[in-house]
Amino acid sequence: MRKLTSLLVVLMSLSVFAAIAIAAIAADGEKKAVTNKKCPINGGEVNEKYRAEYNGQFVYFCCSGCVEDFKKNPEAAIAKLSAEDQAAIKINEKCPVSGEPISKALSVEYEGRKVYFCCEHCVEQFKKEHATR
Ligand SMILES: [Zn+2]
Ligand SMILES: [Zn+2]
Repeated sequence: MRKLTSLLVVLMSLSVFAAIAIAAIAADGEKKAVTNKKCPINGGEVNEKYRAEYNGQFVYFCCSGCVEDFKKNPEAAIAKLSAEDQAAIKINEKCPVSGEPISKALSVEYEGRKVYFCCEHCVEQFKKEHATR
C-alpha cells in the first residue's frame, strides 16, 4: 500500500510538471505568425485569422468587425499603430536570397507575412530552404 501511495505521489508530481511545461509552451506561443501584434482599430491582441492586405503586406486584427472598420479608413488606423508594428507591416525591399531589389509581383507567404523576391529563381531557392506553410 505504501508503494502505491508513493507511486501516486510520483504521478501527481509528474502531472504538475506537465502542467508547468504546457504553461511554458502557451506563454511561448506569443510568437504568432503575424506582422503587427496589436489591432490597429482597438489595440487588442491580434488573431491570425483576421487580416487584410495593406500596401502589399498583411495587417492583422482582433476580430472581423475591426477588419471591416479598417477598410473604411486604413490610413487613420495604421497611424495609430506603434512604431514597432508599423515597421512590421512594411514589405521587404531587398530579396532575402540575393539582396537585390524586389519585384512586387513575386511574393511568398511565410510565417504570416508576405516575403518579396527579385526573381523566380530566388522564390524557388527560398521555398527549398524554408518549408512554406
Ligand atoms: Zn476587433
Ligand atoms: Zn533573385
